[in-house]
Amino acid sequence: MIILMRFGAEEAQIQAVCDVIREAGHEPLVLPGEDRVAIGIPASLSQDERVNLDAALSAMEGVSKVTHTSRPYKLASLEFHSSRSVVEVRGVGIGPGSFTVMGGPCSVESYEQFSTSARIVKEAGATVLRGGAFKPRTSPYAFQGLAQEGLEIIRKVGQETGLVTISEVMSGDMVPMVAEYVDILQIGARSMQNFPLLIEAGRSGKPVFLKRGPSASIDEFLLAAEYLLSQGNPNVILCERGVLPIDKSYTRNTLDLSAVPVLKEFSHLPIIVDPSHGTGVARYVGPMSLAAMVAGADGVMIEMHPDPKTALSDGSQALTPDQFTELMTDLRRLWSFQTQAQSV
Ligand code: PEP
Ligand code: MN
Repeated sequence: MIILMRFGAEEAQIQAVCDVIREAGHEPLVLPGEDRVAIGIPASLSQDERVNLDAALSAMEGVSKVTHTSRPYKLASLEFHSSRSVVEVRGVGIGPGSFTVMGGPCSVESYEQFSTSARIVKEAGATVLRGGAFKPRTSPYAFQGLAQEGLEIIRKVGQETGLVTISEVMSGDMVPMVAEYVDILQIGARSMQNFPLLIEAGRSGKPVFLKRGPSASIDEFLLAAEYLLSQGNPNVILCERGVLPIDKSYTRNTLDLSAVPVLKEFSHLPIIVDPSHGTGVARYVGPMSLAAMVAGADGVMIEMHPDPKTALSDGSQALTPDQFTELMTDLRRLWSFQTQAQSV
């Protein structure tokens, strides 16, 4: 439910509305707008509660309108926010106004491999360095990541290069440890509905990068984000990384680029597209990255390996250093074309 106050409503009137909401057992969310204040109730209300609150609040001084939201998510909703969120991580703003590139290998394999990757990512102009230390692999016999040793490498390389770092955490009990080493916690597609993990990540105080589950609807995705936000963590970044494909013989997943404008319409959270997992094929990563920018994404996450043929995971979708650098140039060109086109 959202209560829209009249233009010029007095502070006492706003407080009176908040008091009524509190008396009904809910915490009001005051949303200062450009010309007037709105007050949200981020909770699922029963039919009776809705009717009673609507009647009580509509009659109050200073109230212009009471509206009911049909969406199940509240804190993730654009309606409950006066502006779009930009997540600030050590000087890098992720959100509208810039296009963030997160680059790096699927897995951290060694100090050598990761520091070489970092150098290439940085020289090409990207600002966030990715790499998995804990890998969610389909087979228990596949490379599982270097675990804590991988985290130590990430921290060291992050300090040496100044790049913001991101890495996956797979379980709630691992959150405090991973949070010690990296700047952004990644929650993988397979973990999108691991609720204890979402709660721990939400409590960690770290920015969280939430990947959409391979078969998650938009509502399920935003409700997973709601778990993070409802723990008091406002620094949530959404990532579209492809959903289950009809035909697996050409692409690993189907990159759902339509999710970008949909999420922009209904949520204030920044959205990053991952065309590497979205397609699973290195040669499709470039076109889909450019398409992501045109669709309105706030950035991309791209897998790049110094030597993809030898990669211990996801080599077939990893760009070579040259391909990555070339793509960065193309993205920069398209960005300046888009921003100029918008300003005329
Ligand atoms: C990854 O980023 O390496 C990864 C495992 O991604 P996803 O969770 O999207 O499969
Ligand atoms: Mn990967």
